[in-house]
Amino acid sequence: MELSDRVLRFELDRSSSLLINPVTGAIDIIPTRFLGHLSDSEKGLLHERGYFLSEDERLRMLVALQDVEIQHSRNVPYWFYVLTTLDCNFRCPICYEKQTLARSETTPDTIEKVMDAIKGFQEEHEIPADRVNLIVFGGEPLCVSDPDIIRQILQSSHEQKWKDVVVTNGSRVKRFIGLFVEYSGTISDFRVTLDGPQAIHDSRRPYRGGRGSFTDVVSAIDLLLENHLSVKMQTILGSGNISRFEDLITFVEEKGWLQDPSFQWRIEGSHDYANLDPEKDEISEGRIVRALIKSKAEHEGLGGKIKFESFKYLGHIVRSFGWLGTHKTYWGPKYGFCEPQKGFHYVFSTRGGVYHCPRTINNPDFYVGDVGGGLRSKGGGSEHRSILERKDCLPCSVNTLCGGGCVVQKRYHPGLDCEEYALSVISEFIDLMKGEILERADPDRIVSVNDLWQGHHES
Ligand code: SF4
Ligand code: SF4
Repeated sequence: MELSDRVLRFELDRSSSLLINPVTGAIDIIPTRFLGHLSDSEKGLLHERGYFLSEDERLRMLVALQDVEIQHSRNVPYWFYVLTTLDCNFRCPICYEKQTLARSETTPDTIEKVMDAIKGFQEEHEIPADRVNLIVFGGEPLCVSDPDIIRQILQSSHEQKWKDVVVTNGSRVKRFIGLFVEYSGTISDFRVTLDGPQAIHDSRRPYRGGRGSFTDVVSAIDLLLENHLSVKMQTILGSGNISRFEDLITFVEEKGWLQDPSFQWRIEGSHDYANLDPEKDEISEGRIVRALIKSKAEHEGLGGKIKFESFKYLGHIVRSFGWLGTHKTYWGPKYGFCEPQKGFHYVFSTRGGVYHCPRTINNPDFYVGDVGGGLRSKGGGSEHRSILERKDCLPCSVNTLCGGGCVVQKRYHPGLDCEEYALSVISEFIDLMKGEILERADPDRIVSVNDLWQGHHES
């Protein structure tokens, strides 16, 4: 009896291997010598965990599991990005919006149309108000020359019972603090980026004239917390700051922010799928996650405070081992790559054009409508099609771990072998985590790391 050729196999050392079953979700550590000759009880266990499925059984199972995902998506929040201005007072060398930054501002009239478009979409799709979130976005949204625009967005959201998130570089928070306190019931949180200890942050996030922004960003976070406004501080990890991440943790600990109930810390990877370039700031998902797991283990206070949700390929593996906690509600296979691709994100640019995701603002290839014509569902290459509907993804060995890839990457890098790329990310991570994985190995038996995805037993 042979293991299905769908099973991913990684050698951990001379005597143990890791098996990942992308159909049932099973992850097991097996003594490698067993693979040459399986006893009946080992066969039974591996059978239970779906390692011998035929191709028909695999397809049936993926269809059954998709129903679970569809059920789950009935509660997923919608995010509407509302841009106030494309201008920004920072000149970050790593900014992915660099080509977009311009002196283009929205107007009260456009904001009114944006709100009407969101209301129309909400009614058409019967979305309850508590699933609607607006993201006040830019450029730097608080650089808008008419500050009443910010009030207008908050007031409309308040009337509709929507929640707002303000994504800001922090430099103008002081100017708006009275307004933010006034609308504290409508604003769910502020996303303010602090990218490292002072020297690192200042080099990554300088003002337009070159002056560092660290001190102002730290003051903005302090001010928001003093006013009991929720801060989800962001750090974008890339090759330019990962080696100083520990210093940033020390700074955050010394500030006492980790003890503040209004403070959380979100980590993301620096990614620019349109311009994939190893010389740029990007580092692999594996290295970011490895760094986070290590820091979390070494700093008790980071516990429930630090969040990394932007997994592209490693989410299932990391969750199965419980390395970064368990805050996500959906644990099944991925049928879509990111939230914009699943149709839950829309970006309204300053003149009312609607775009696929924040990385595609004003990019005509990813234009998905405008406020005049109402917001329509996504078309072109950016509509939601699950891995079962994409001809390249259906047979792919890592499809349920990937979810179908980034449409931006596909548009600009049509020749990229994405399966090989995804597999290289996964193997690099397993290699980095080898020590931790081997601690769980047993030379005389198969160790099952996790439970199977729901739906397995129905097949
Ligand atoms: S790796 Fe490529 S082929 Fe495989 S699921 Fe992802 S996008 Fe599709
Ligand atoms: S489509 Fe998704 S993964 Fe790709 S750039 Fe946009 S948000 Fe990022």
